[in-house]
Amino acid sequence: MHIHDLIGIGFGPSNIALAITLEEKRQEGYNVDSFFIEKQPGFAWHANMMLDNTHMQISFLKDLATLRNPSSHFTFINYLHQKQRLQDFINLKTFFPSRHEFNDYLKWAAEHFDDRCAYGEEVLEVLPEKRNDEVALLRIRSRDADNVIHERLTRNLIISVGGRPSIPECFAPLKDDPRVFHSNNYLGEIERHESAKRIAVVGAGQSASEIFMDLHGRPNAPQVDLIMRARAIKPSDDSPFVNEIFNPDFTDFVFSRANKDRAALLDEFWHTNYAAPDLVLIEQIFNVFYQQRVTGIARHRFLRRHEVATAHALPEGIRLVLRNLNDGGEQVATYDAVVLATGYSRDHHKSLLKPLSPYLENFTVDRQYRLLSTANFRPAIFLQGACESSHGLSDTLLSVTAVRTDEIGEALLSTVNQHGCQQPDNTIRAVASR
Ligand SMILES: Cc1cc2nc3c(=O)[nH]c(=O)nc-3n(C[C@H](O)[C@H](O)[C@H](O)COP(=O)(O)OP(=O)(O)OC[C@H]3O[C@@H](n4cnc5c(N)ncnc54)[C@H](O)[C@@H]3O)c2cc1C
Repeated sequence: MHIHDLIGIGFGPSNIALAITLEEKRQEGYNVDSFFIEKQPGFAWHANMMLDNTHMQISFLKDLATLRNPSSHFTFINYLHQKQRLQDFINLKTFFPSRHEFNDYLKWAAEHFDDRCAYGEEVLEVLPEKRNDEVALLRIRSRDADNVIHERLTRNLIISVGGRPSIPECFAPLKDDPRVFHSNNYLGEIERHESAKRIAVVGAGQSASEIFMDLHGRPNAPQVDLIMRARAIKPSDDSPFVNEIFNPDFTDFVFSRANKDRAALLDEFWHTNYAAPDLVLIEQIFNVFYQQRVTGIARHRFLRRHEVATAHALPEGIRLVLRNLNDGGEQVATYDAVVLATGYSRDHHKSLLKPLSPYLENFTVDRQYRLLSTANFRPAIFLQGACESSHGLSDTLLSVTAVRTDEIGEALLSTVNQHGCQQPDNTIRAVASR
């Protein structure tokens, strides 16, 4: 069976950026045989949240390449140039393209690597391949849409699988009820609930806010309850000094802190990324509720300082017991659909790597995002998007993507330098002297 130098699980922005970095290293003479496996049938960036009038929450200059190599073919500016929209984009006078346009940019970049990516295959697990006493290779098992199992061998692995929907405990028993769904599936599911009259949206972040405004504008005019524990919807703080925490060089600072200090740092700036919609969106929501007071028609309810105590599936709808956090009082409401805009967990890599756990040191990563492993474990395994607690709040965003892939690329090539002389035929070929 063919042995790859590197397999990447997932082909979202993080691994596309890595493919670009490796491609540019190839042009410098370093040839890495890389291959990616993506479970979606084709490239799509958070397709079920591709709502009209949504914009990037980050400057387009933090694209797949610019911060690493501004002269790359893969910059957003070059994409605009290739699509003959550069002049018109300038006239928009914005750093924040629409999500539709950024998705198109990412797709354009991804298409350059169609020969290096298997779409429509979900990786199920990663198994150790032993040679004598050491783990020399990894066997990647995936399943395609026809339930056919595929296996591939690799010397190194990078896992960039994004987040998995986080479902509050009280909704766990309803996980198979189609009337309850996560924002991750919003557009796909809401089409099936066109006749829903009463909808609950649970959450206080950007997704909850976008979904509220989307439902407000729908032709079937559903009544929406926006339910959140918070007292107010607070805006994201993207003022310049605060924004410095998303600079790539801030990663060194975060990583070098003692655990306690790092946790305090993450806590202090948590709100820059979580439960923090754009101010413009908050103003739109405020205006909706203000206009309700003008007309006297209370179509939607803003249930702040409320939490869902229990959830039950009944034939007539999903019944929620809502607890008021100010006075402990409870009220009951029944909905045709409940949207959980409750965020994501980022521990999927742990289940994929379970068969390797005897060789991994509690899933701790080094500065180059490589999992620490025992001495008899040869493959390098890197993580992207799952290192927030060690590398900072930028880890799950696009902010450091371009620079991070350079750091990982360098670490990958230095693995070669360490092992390559001993086994030149089964390591990455560094064909240029460095
Ligand atoms: C609605 C939304 C809007 C956002 N907007 C912004 C923004 O404006 N700015 C910003 O910086 N960040 C934003 N983010 C954060 C987002 O995490 C990053 O933009 C970016 O998507 C991270 O890229 P990624 O490749 O690490 O993860 P993802 O984009 O999540 O990609 C992971 C890929 O892995 C695939 N995958 C998962 N499991 C498997 C498996 N077992 N086998 C094979 N493939 C698998 C998935 O299908 C997916 O394509 C947004 C997030 C959401 C949900």
